[in-house]
Amino acid sequence: MRTAKSASTNAGRRLAMPSGVGLAIGVLGLYVLLHVLVGAFAFAAVCAAFLLWLTCGHPLARRVALFAAWGALLLGAWAVFDGEVVRARLVPVSVAVVVGLTNSTARRFFDLHCYTCQDSRVRPRGVLCRRIICRECGREWKPHEERSDLTAFD
Ligand SMILES: [Zn+2]
Repeated sequence: MRTAKSASTNAGRRLAMPSGVGLAIGVLGLYVLLHVLVGAFAFAAVCAAFLLWLTCGHPLARRVALFAAWGALLLGAWAVFDGEVVRARLVPVSVAVVVGLTNSTARRFFDLHCYTCQDSRVRPRGVLCRRIICRECGREWKPHEERSDLTAFD
């Protein structure tokens, strides 16, 4: 977690990773490690690749993570009622991911913030989130298009 954080800071012009996103990635990293320890290497490899994508701050990665987290939360909650210990671990993991990725600094990290009118009521367009649109001023941009001239948030 620490190395990922310093790597993103060293990238210079990229936004520093907010602590909420760091928390979500750290918790998911521990979850991946758990699967490595029990020998589920293929699953762990897929998750590790996804985590790398998440550290890039693409809004689609956030959308996939939140979708999976809400699903995992339902599965985990079901397991809690069933008294199943293994799947009940999904509850704290998914709560950390949802909390970490939905706050306003996390939204900025994933480029879900309009830099023209400073409004956060923006949303990705289309399933693949290739463009983002601001509901307030109607501006449209591609993910990370404007990061390069942004130093105000560092
Ligand atoms: Zn706007």
